[in-house]
Amino acid sequence: GGQRLRLPPWLKTEIPIGKNFSKLKENLRGLNLHTVCKEARCPNIGECWGGGPDATATATIMLMGDTCTRGCRFCSVKTSKAPLPLDPNEPVNTAIAIAAWGLDYVVLTSVDRDDLPDQGSNHLSQTVMELKKRSPQLLVECLTPDFRGDHNCVERVVRSGLDVFAHNIETVEELTWLVRDPRAKYQQSMDVLRHAKQVRPDVVTKSSIMLGLGEKDDQVRKTLEDLREVGVDCVTLGQYMQPTKRHIKVSEYVTPEKFSQWETIGKELGFLYTASGPLVRSSYKAGEYFIKNIIM
Ligand code: SF4
Ligand code: SF4
Repeated sequence: GGQRLRLPPWLKTEIPIGKNFSKLKENLRGLNLHTVCKEARCPNIGECWGGGPDATATATIMLMGDTCTRGCRFCSVKTSKAPLPLDPNEPVNTAIAIAAWGLDYVVLTSVDRDDLPDQGSNHLSQTVMELKKRSPQLLVECLTPDFRGDHNCVERVVRSGLDVFAHNIETVEELTWLVRDPRAKYQQSMDVLRHAKQVRPDVVTKSSIMLGLGEKDDQVRKTLEDLREVGVDCVTLGQYMQPTKRHIKVSEYVTPEKFSQWETIGKELGFLYTASGPLVRSSYKAGEYFIKNIIM
């Protein structure tokens, strides 16, 4: 392939740090939590942990190990057909640690575990239950795998007591084969989101799209429409960044103006909120958005 694109100025800017940031960073010591925020060196950490003016702190926790059974071409997580067995104490220990930490909104995410009979769905739902037992006021989002479309797994997670069910469509239908692991399918992911909403219409559903992979505007629009069609409440759009040279190349750095246009279109389509910007990630300031647009 050709040369790599130069990083545009809007991706080099300093991001503000909210007032809770140091406190949360301090409190994390010794808790043995694997945060995606720190481990993936997410640029939004100051904003998410810091919580902005209304101090709604959000963080993302990775469950079920650091090794995934899949190999999506945009993702830097390690891959293996047989990752280590689950730690049976993880749900309780994670719940205790999160409850002690002082967050307002937590995103629980995980690698895909195609090697397990229940694909890890019991482990995930147990974690939510243990967490809600200790911190009933804490808002909990699960960012889940597609469970290969297994409705039982989806239901188990949706009925765990979570507040937000998130599953990322990642890209437009036309690029799914190129970007995601071959076991991931556009229609399957749409079905997972549809089923989650059908099982518990009161649960907020959410999805995320990466831009800059070569998608066309009408394809992005169609994806947003399809997400609304299956009842998805909230959507985020962000710039794809190539994690290493072995990963799929960035084909375009989408401008901040273009991201704002998608935000307007998201509003027109009726999403409860649309978070759209170059550095937006699926969990970006999720707590702040939730409190502003859904509770209030
Ligand atoms: Fe953490 Fe997600 Fe915020 Fe990044 S965007 S700091 S991963 S909660
Ligand atoms: Fe990464 Fe998720 Fe794909 Fe696994 S399934 S490779 S964790 S994006």
